[in-house]
Amino acid sequence: MYILRKALIASLLLTVFTGCKSKKKAAPSTLKVVDPKEWVDDHMLSNADSGMVKHLHLDINVSMDKKQIAGSAMWTINNTHKKKELILDTYDLTIDSVTVDGHKAAHHLDGAIKYLGSALHIPIDVNTKFVTVYYKTGADARALQWLSPQQTHDKKKPFLYTQSESIYARSWIPCPDGPGVRFTYTARVKVPIGLMALMSAENSDIVNDSGIYRFRMQNPIPAYLMALAVGDLAFRGIDDRTGVFAEKGMIDKARYEFENVGRMVGAAEQLYGPYRWGRYDVLVLPPGFPIGGMENPRLTFCTPSIIAGDRSLVTLIAHELAHSWSGNLVTNATWNDFWLNEGFTNYFERRIMEQMMGAKYADMLWELGYQDLENTVTHLGPKSPDTWLKLNLKGRDPDDGLNDIPYEKGCHFLRLIEKNAGRDRFDKFLSKYFDHYAFSTVTTETFLNYMDTVLIGKDTNLRKSITIDEWVYGPGIPANCPRAGNELFGKVDIEREKFLAGMPAEQMAFVNWSAHEWLHFLRGMPKSLMPSQMKMLDDAFNITNTGNSEIACMWFILAIRTNYFQAYPAMERFLSTIGRRKFLEPLYSEMMLAPGGEEMAKRLYTRYKNNYHPLAQESLDEIVLHEHR
Ligand SMILES: [Zn+2]
Repeated sequence: MYILRKALIASLLLTVFTGCKSKKKAAPSTLKVVDPKEWVDDHMLSNADSGMVKHLHLDINVSMDKKQIAGSAMWTINNTHKKKELILDTYDLTIDSVTVDGHKAAHHLDGAIKYLGSALHIPIDVNTKFVTVYYKTGADARALQWLSPQQTHDKKKPFLYTQSESIYARSWIPCPDGPGVRFTYTARVKVPIGLMALMSAENSDIVNDSGIYRFRMQNPIPAYLMALAVGDLAFRGIDDRTGVFAEKGMIDKARYEFENVGRMVGAAEQLYGPYRWGRYDVLVLPPGFPIGGMENPRLTFCTPSIIAGDRSLVTLIAHELAHSWSGNLVTNATWNDFWLNEGFTNYFERRIMEQMMGAKYADMLWELGYQDLENTVTHLGPKSPDTWLKLNLKGRDPDDGLNDIPYEKGCHFLRLIEKNAGRDRFDKFLSKYFDHYAFSTVTTETFLNYMDTVLIGKDTNLRKSITIDEWVYGPGIPANCPRAGNELFGKVDIEREKFLAGMPAEQMAFVNWSAHEWLHFLRGMPKSLMPSQMKMLDDAFNITNTGNSEIACMWFILAIRTNYFQAYPAMERFLSTIGRRKFLEPLYSEMMLAPGGEEMAKRLYTRYKNNYHPLAQESLDEIVLHEHR
């Protein structure tokens, strides 16, 4: 998700641009296995672990009118630790009552803590089997986005979807809301008749007459993978284990776009072993979805901005699919270990892309990713502890760790290991790792220790060459960071220089440039770029009207920087229809920096705020209105 939320990195759009012509060390160098009991999840108030909560049964009613979920969450408990109370995470929930083994029980809710919400305390004893919480969601439920018909693609019926990662599940389910606690779940969900409900579970693919849907997830998952969507949806199969859900008006286009998803699952399996979740379906959401995609098990949620009409953008799915191994199958124990989810997934995603599109293509992804990493390190400061792979987010919003560090520094570290160990050896190791820790949870130290035993062993040269402490517990970009090389974009750099030196834009040698090359071309533009030069490029290539959202975002940033007003109406359309924070945050930030831009930012934000997800609103309130929550 974000600026980078998970899937965003996945989203380098693949279309050909045809539409327009001394380091501080925190850890001992001798690594030791951290016993799972020793984890401290700073973002979980619950006292439960995977041994204590086994199963969740949700029985909820979704009121689209009231914008509220109400019902019960029944937890199956195994109190082997003889705890005197079960503590669950909640955020802005109203607790109506609690029963323990069917009998009404006492409970109390602590005061709210910033970011974390309120701990719900329920007394239990050693024999307690079931704890049921009857509750309602609040107006400030951070996981829920309620869309009016007007905010959907078809504009006929309301829509609801959830985004539970990182710690938002607690705003719609009272639960142990940490990535280190896994449970299975079943659910009965009642929705207005005529609408379809979907979850990160076994789904029905037809609208039923009763409005009641039942779900089952038999693999244990952490709370951040709990997901629900309710809307006027339809389904089309792709092959016998993949398919797509979307609003009716978009379903045929979506089905066409995702033709190769089945093949992609096969490519991923060839790399790191069997896909263990049964079906893999994709749900295309309305435009306000704040991130590129979310890896909800069995049902990836994704932005509609990848429906391009030519199947060229579907590779965003590679990232979410890769999470079926890194993240969903083997999960980071705490948000401080987030790079285990995202660095591995970025690495895996690029390997899938290499398999499907070739090495040169993947290398361009690596190089653009390296550039993103450099920018992020510059932005955070090269000595900042926030540039370590192992983060320390105690007392902070876990979303503070949502930037390019876990994604890009993480995957570059893995690439370094691959290059030094050899690809075959590294691939075998990764397959073993996914197998060994399947359906469980891993801290950074557990991974490093496992790698030390299984991959490195007596290979002291390998241990020395991958400088683990420097990468994991040190800031910035280590000097041994592998780089695909600028020469990949050499031709693009030459054309940019010639253009800046006065060559007419039409004479540029841009034939068959991919979106990566165009993106690199625009990213390299100097501060001195003039509006007249923007106009020349636009006259030649009509970039203002590109359908590629990555390129559009970069172009509009340049338009703000250079006062290229002709692009503003298209930028406003973009801001009114795009919900991804990846695009919204840099664009609004750029406006705020421009002379006179603050007024424009405020005007546009006020106009389109309601189109954005509450999480996007939170960060934009800060950027545009200087309001801190
Ligand atoms: Zn991700």
